[in-house]
Amino acid sequence: MQKFIFVTGGVVSSVGKGICVASVGRMLKNRGFSVSLMKLDPYLNVDPGTMSPYQHGEVYVTDDGAETDLDLGHYERFTETRLTGLSSLTAGQIYKKVIDKERNGDYLGRTIQVVPHVTNEIKERVIQVANESKSDIVVVEVGGTVGDIEGLPFLEAIRQIPYLVGKDNCFFIHVTYLPFINTTGELKTKPTQHSVRELRSIGIQPDSIICRSEFEVSEKIKEKISMFCDVPLDAVTSLPTLDSVYEVPIILEKENLWKLISDNLSLNAKTGKSSNWTEIISKVNNSKKSLKVAIVGKYVELQDSYLSVKESLVHAGISNQSEIQIEWINSEEIKSTNVAQIFEGIKGIVVPGGFDKRGTQGMIETCKFARENNIPYLGLCLGMQIMVIEASRNLLGYQDANSSEFDESTRYPVIDLMPEQLKSLHKGASMRLGLYDCKLVDDTKSKAIYQSDIISERHRHRYEVNNKFVGELEKVGLLTSGINPESELVEIMEYINHSFMIGVQFHPEFLSTPLNPHPLFVQFVKSGLEEINIKANGKFINKSNILE
Ligand code: GLN
Repeated sequence: MQKFIFVTGGVVSSVGKGICVASVGRMLKNRGFSVSLMKLDPYLNVDPGTMSPYQHGEVYVTDDGAETDLDLGHYERFTETRLTGLSSLTAGQIYKKVIDKERNGDYLGRTIQVVPHVTNEIKERVIQVANESKSDIVVVEVGGTVGDIEGLPFLEAIRQIPYLVGKDNCFFIHVTYLPFINTTGELKTKPTQHSVRELRSIGIQPDSIICRSEFEVSEKIKEKISMFCDVPLDAVTSLPTLDSVYEVPIILEKENLWKLISDNLSLNAKTGKSSNWTEIISKVNNSKKSLKVAIVGKYVELQDSYLSVKESLVHAGISNQSEIQIEWINSEEIKSTNVAQIFEGIKGIVVPGGFDKRGTQGMIETCKFARENNIPYLGLCLGMQIMVIEASRNLLGYQDANSSEFDESTRYPVIDLMPEQLKSLHKGASMRLGLYDCKLVDDTKSKAIYQSDIISERHRHRYEVNNKFVGELEKVGLLTSGINPESELVEIMEYINHSFMIGVQFHPEFLSTPLNPHPLFVQFVKSGLEEINIKANGKFINKSNILE
């Protein structure tokens, strides 16, 4: 019989509920269970693909090309599980389905209501994920906090699920926040009491309460929460803010959560506890080196917009035993006159994905600076398109070369729409999305880094390198080092005479995990750490042994 863990949130959002869910998943994986995870988002957008990064943070893409909530990134990174679009359910998807069915006459004249029609669709989806994943345990996170009006149908649906699958197979966790009041120097439990009361009024009694806070939660406070929220004392878990999110599974375990879950769900560990995860944490805490890397984009005030990029750098740092200090740089502030000053002391530059013209001039300046000064540069999707525009302008001399996304009338559309993209009128889910193959070209850095002939990476973009210019770009040293074997679209480009200047049309950041850091990020960090680049006869010689 499959087991279900439901996670709700109380008091405030943004306290790391997604990390808690991912960490519970990790704890179960460490004991040999297969897990599937899903996020129920109460907003009415069908998916976050059309939302501004300022609203929502990063849009995370799965193998099957679904544009999903960034929490799915945490789930995949922590559990090494490849999820699908089924794991990201929004109220928009549910209502769309219900209304489509109604228009189709499927309800045979009945009145359509939130309960049972909307709640039934939610329940069906949870059961579908359980059935299709065939995993031992499904962990389900409800987005938002208890008390949100739009969250009610989702809470009602998870309240009903135990009647479908058996009460003994379900476990409810409530993640709350204990604010710290400076004047009295204490953590306050009242908001937690209120949110649990609200949850119980809906009919859900939590089996466990995870208390997020800035400080360790004392026994006295745990007793209070236990008493007022009607949960056993050992079901109150303290989770203070930690240096690394990857420590959370270890802390939850120490706080007794594995025992509580396994007792409640009658789980017998399938394997002895794996120590891989603990090793990662010891590497994070004992890193010997430090590297300053810049992320250059236009959404840098909201760092969640680049969450997977940031985490991939952390993973690469772990594998290089180095701490990564990230400097967030707003590309709109970069000019030819201040670029050298802005990047002083920076040993690596990442230009991540993005849309629309704003901020691209600063990215082009950044790219030129990295190329001319042999600073490791990793271009992700837009960051790769910028490499092509910069080379076309400054090396080929095509002054107005551009992407047709930024200038429709450019004479040199070095990045352009492909005919199939011209057809799609919808904004939603109409990009080139999900996994596509890429064949690596012999004798390139990219092939040496991947050590493979063919790779498969996740995409999310509309525009492509214009193959008409590829030959000319090669002549000035910008090689195509990865190609889609079917469409012949450019997937990877790299400079010959540079320690590490690689741009990829895809998003490698979606496939990096702490246990399996992505090779491109690993080599990027390595290049930054090695002060190896010696200039001889105007060319940079890369002594990195990977190419020898
Ligand atoms: N805006 C570019 C495109 O659509 C790049 C997209 C991205 O960086 N994800 O092709």
